[in-house]
Amino acid sequence: MPGSALPPLPALFAGTTIFLLGAILGSFLNVVIRRIPAGESVVRPGSRCRCGEPLPWHDNLPLVSWLLLRGRARCCGARISPRYPLVEGITALLFLLCWWLHPPAVALSLAVLVLFLVPAFWIDLDHLVIPDLFTVGGMLLGLALSFLVPGLHGFPEAAAPSLRGLGSAFLGVLLGSSVYYWLAVGAGLALRREALGEGDIKLAGCLGAFLGWQGAVFALFGGAVLGTAILLPVLAWQRFRAGRAEPDRGERLGAGSEIPFGPFLIAAALAYALGLDGPVDAWFSALGRALALLS
Ligand SMILES: [Zn+2]
Repeated sequence: MPGSALPPLPALFAGTTIFLLGAILGSFLNVVIRRIPAGESVVRPGSRCRCGEPLPWHDNLPLVSWLLLRGRARCCGARISPRYPLVEGITALLFLLCWWLHPPAVALSLAVLVLFLVPAFWIDLDHLVIPDLFTVGGMLLGLALSFLVPGLHGFPEAAAPSLRGLGSAFLGVLLGSSVYYWLAVGAGLALRREALGEGDIKLAGCLGAFLGWQGAVFALFGGAVLGTAILLPVLAWQRFRAGRAEPDRGERLGAGSEIPFGPFLIAAALAYALGLDGPVDAWFSALGRALALLS
C-alpha cells in the first residue's frame, strides 16, 4: 500500500517521519560527497568547520541549522554553502516521493537507490568521475534487492523472493550498459570527440538493475534531452557574452571542455522511478505491439 492510500492523519505523521529521516540521511550524504572522493573516512573525525573548530550538534541539524545560522558559521563567520541544505532537502523530498508513490518494500528499495544516486550526482559535478562504490556497488545491491523485492520490476508476487525479479534486473544491467555504450560511440562519431565515459556505462548498469531496461533506456534518452535543453541556452549565452567583450570568461563550458553526463542520467532515472514509470512502460509496450504488427 503506497503512502497515498493512508487516511490523512496517519499519512501526515508517517510522511513527516520519512521526510525527517531523508533529511538526516541527506546530511550524512553531504559528508559522503565531500570525503569519499578525497579517500577519507565518512565516520571519523566528526564534522568540523573549515576553521577547524568542531561543530556542536545543534549547529549540525539538517536543514534547520543552516537556516538558523543564515548560512554563516557560528565560530568564524565563514559562509556555509547552500548546497548542504539543498542536498538534505532533495534527499528528504525524494524519500517522501518513494513512500508516497510505491508500496513499502519497493519504496524502501528505491530509497536505497536514492542514497546511491544523490552523492553520485554531486561527485560527478565536482570531479567529473563517479567512484565504482556508487555504480558497481549500486548495481550489485540492485541485483540483490530485485531478487528479494520482485515488485521493484512490477511482478505482483512482491512479498516473496523471485528469480523473475533477478532476471529483469540482469536484463536491465546488460541492456542499459550496452545501449549507453553504442549511444556514446554514435555521439563520439557525430561530435568528432571522445564522448564515452566508462563511469556512465557502469551507472547505466546500476540504473538497469534497479529500474529494469525500460528505466535505464529512458534515463539515457531522457538524460540526453535534458542535457541538451539545459546546456544549449547556457552555451548560447556564453558565446554571446564571449562575443561581446571578455573572451576569457566565456570559456567555462566551451565545446572543448568536459561536461559530466552522469547528473542528467541520474535526474532522468529519478523522474522515471518517481512518477514517469507508468507512462514510459506503457509507451514501450505500445511500441513493442506496433513492431510485432509490422513483422
Ligand atoms: Zn569556523
